[in-house]
This record gives sequence, C-alpha cells and structure tokens, in this order.
Amino acid sequence: MRSDLHVHSSASDGTDPPAEVMRRAALAGLDVVALTDHDTVAGLAEARTAAGPITLLPGMELSCRLDGRSLHMLAYLFDPDQPELAAELARIRDDRVLRARAMVDKLAGLGVDISWEQVAAIAGEAVVGRPHIARAMAASGAIASPREAFTRDWIADGGRAYVDRYALDPARAIGLVRAAGGVAVLAHPRAGRDTWVTDEQVTRLAATGLAGVEVFHPDQSEAERARLLALASDLSLVATGGSDDHGSLTGYRPGGETTPAEAYQDLLSRVPDCGKKGP
Ligand SMILES: [Zn+2]
Ligand SMILES: [Zn+2]
Repeated sequence: MRSDLHVHSSASDGTDPPAEVMRRAALAGLDVVALTDHDTVAGLAEARTAAGPITLLPGMELSCRLDGRSLHMLAYLFDPDQPELAAELARIRDDRVLRARAMVDKLAGLGVDISWEQVAAIAGEAVVGRPHIARAMAASGAIASPREAFTRDWIADGGRAYVDRYALDPARAIGLVRAAGGVAVLAHPRAGRDTWVTDEQVTRLAATGLAGVEVFHPDQSEAERARLLALASDLSLVATGGSDDHGSLTGYRPGGETTPAEAYQDLLSRVPDCGKKGP
C-alpha cells in the first residue's frame, strides 16, 4: 500500500485543482493520498469527488510558530466544523489577507508597482500567500521570475517587504486538532534552517499529544531521516512521509515520498475516536 500523506492543491499554494491532484496521484500508483493545503480544507470536497479508487485522507497543514520560528503541523481526520478549530482557521485566513496587503504596501514603498487587486485576482479562490505576490511582482516586471521574490531583498522571511503573520502555538494546534477528533503530525522538522525543530522541541510537543513526525520528506537528508527515525522511536511517534507536492512548482512529485504501510495503520489507530470514523 502506497500512501503519500502530504500534497497541496490550488486551494492553497499548489498549482493544480484538487481533482487534477487526485488524477496525478492515481497515475503515480498511490493507494492513499492526504490533501494537506495550508490552513484550509476548501479543496477536500472536490478531491473527495475525484478520488475514485484512491483513499482520500482529509488533512490540512497548519501554520504555527515556536520560539519565534515558523513551524508546520500536519493534521488529519479532524472535524473542520468543530467550533474552536473553525474559529482559529478563520482567524488565520483573515490574517493572511491583512498580511498580504501589508506586503503589497511595503513593496509599493520599494518602488514595486503592484496592487492588492492584482494579487487577489491571481490568488482567485485560493488562500492568498506569498507565491501569489511573487507572481504579481514577476508580471509587473519588477523581477524576472516569481522565484526571485523569495530573497531578503523582497518577501523571504525577514526580507525588506516581509510581514510576519498570525500563527498558532504548536501545542495549541495539537490540542485543537485532537479536540476536533483528529491527529497531528509535525511536518518536515529538518527541511531547512528557517523551520528547523530541535530534538528538545519535538520532545516537548510529543508530551502535548503529537501523534507523529514527518521523516520521509524530499528536503530532509538521509542523515536527518535517520536521526528523526531514532527520535520517533524514542518518543513513540509515528514516522510518516509525503512528497509535499505543489504541482508544477515542485515538478509534479506525488508519491515521491511515502508513509510505510505499518506507520499509516499506526497513525489511524491514534485517531481519538477511531472506530467511529475512518478516512
Ligand atoms: Zn510545510
Ligand atoms: Zn506542505
């Protein structure tokens, strides 16, 4: 059984609509796919309709901040209508708009001629984010390609036009997901310097009800995977994997990383009210 527990669609910053993501997942020979868009479940209904023989694991990737650093928390099988969780999601999404507007203002101050309306038009129905601003910047001719926006000159973390955003404390995120009947998995803790999570931080999160840690991720080295596997074993966390596919942005890679079958079953067994509900 092949399970990719981390893919994005155009409901957040992936390039393809959920139905197309599911079609590519089928072509990649996957049995289970978790759609994990950033801070939204808006793509799940379309993905479910298009799932065909694939098991769609409903998910989301929550934006968190720990000790001043950005951290991503994958969540699965929660009830998105649980009032407290729904309120936090609305707050995160509202803040994304305020923040994108503030970045557009800062860019204007730096001589970049883009408007909020252009950015909003590019984002369309998606949760607005920096990739949409980057595309507007490239369209305006300020930079040659969207990728160039992600430097300290522009909107990379800490960049001249960067604006911080509201993010959840990860322990609170874990609590919200569990209260909504789901499980939380720490996303790519060793994928990059900006989102590095230490052993000590993972240990603290494990004590607050974290179910798993993402080990098999394209941006994590073999050495870091080995360290994370040992840590997961010590802390009784499930070691998951996923491609973090973003469509053409990441060169179409669903199934490029997967969660071992036993780990997937272990994860399902940790859903608070499993038996009542499945993927
Ligand atoms: Zn992430
Ligand atoms: Zn992701």
